[in-house]
Amino acid sequence: MRTFTYERANSPAEAAAAAERTLGAKFIAGGTNLLDLMKLEIEAPAHLIDVNGLDLDSIEPTPDGGLRIGALVRNTDLAADPRVRRDYGVLSRALLAGASGQLRNKATTAGNLLQRTRCPYFYDTAQPCNKRQPGSGCAAIGGFNRQLAVIGGSEACIATHPSDMAVAMRVLDATVETVRPDGATRFIPIADFHRLPGDTPHIETALVPGELITAVTLPKPAGGTQVYRKVRDRASYAFALVSVAAIVQRDGSGRVALGGVAHKPWRVEAAEAAMPQGAKAVTAQLLAGAKPAHDNAFKLPLVERTLASVLTEAKG
Ligand SMILES: Cc1cc2nc3c(=O)[nH]c(=O)nc-3n(C[C@H](O)[C@H](O)[C@H](O)COP(=O)(O)OP(=O)(O)OC[C@H]3O[C@@H](n4cnc5c(N)ncnc54)[C@H](O)[C@@H]3O)c2cc1C
Ligand code: SF4
Repeated sequence: MRTFTYERANSPAEAAAAAERTLGAKFIAGGTNLLDLMKLEIEAPAHLIDVNGLDLDSIEPTPDGGLRIGALVRNTDLAADPRVRRDYGVLSRALLAGASGQLRNKATTAGNLLQRTRCPYFYDTAQPCNKRQPGSGCAAIGGFNRQLAVIGGSEACIATHPSDMAVAMRVLDATVETVRPDGATRFIPIADFHRLPGDTPHIETALVPGELITAVTLPKPAGGTQVYRKVRDRASYAFALVSVAAIVQRDGSGRVALGGVAHKPWRVEAAEAAMPQGAKAVTAQLLAGAKPAHDNAFKLPLVERTLASVLTEAKG
């Protein structure tokens, strides 16, 4: 691990301002992703700004009937919150499908959204990777790409976003609240928060340098039956090959988002009109234009089957 300096932030605005003025600064929350990346020298921040002392660890109701989740709320606490379990079941289930109990005790809401890809070549510093080292190439295209994206990828990168929580937040239409280094507050719809790789796969979100996430807001409950189904190579402690977050209403209408298939949680709102017609019709629209790599075409039928199973479960 490279040497770095360290400070504790006293307020969100101060943290954002410090991050902008200090070259190579990064925030640290639970540290469950960042510290691993630092040990492997995939990330080498010159300065860490510890945000754990900020007053951002509560879950509060909003005036319009939703919930405001502080950036530092731990994944365990969010999954167990009675309001989340009752009104946003898909979120609670997605959180509990991720990582392990110990990791969820440390992992934060903001850190989870910003965790980096699990592409094996991103972790192997002997291999070219445009995300780790822009312009170096992509070892995954033509390499071992079983776990990687089938849609939304580019010539530069076919990585997937690994978060389970983010897929549930996408189906719930969450909004990410931030403070910028100039002190201004920003509200970013989750649909616009994560980016597709294009030719700049190292730029993964809409955040500007130094911008700090302060909260994620959920709109008032959508009702319906909420299901999160994660398909993976082993029953726990593994990232999704494919995951489905769904909200299904009594008349068969609803919403669906996918994990494990793209550089961001994948949702195509227009495809949801086909939900009463079943999984085949929805999947055809959700994955229209998919370009699987040589090892991962199996994800296309896997999405359809997983969605079919989710819709059956939701209908009871
Ligand atoms: C073995 C293992 C298995 C895992 N399995 C899963 C899984 O199955 N599913 C899943 O979804 N996740 C999984 N994870 C990932 C885990 O969920 C993340 O590591 C965790 O959510 C990151 O949160 P953190 O608070 O520890 O972030 P950190 O490591 O502290 O930070 C992550 C990134 O977020 C930035 N950051 C942190 N807080 C803020 C803020 N407030 N504003 C702006 N930037 C910020 C940091 O600078 C850093 O770039 C796994 C991790 C491990 C190690
Ligand atoms: S898919 Fe993306 S993360 Fe993986 S090697 Fe290629 S550029 Fe790097």
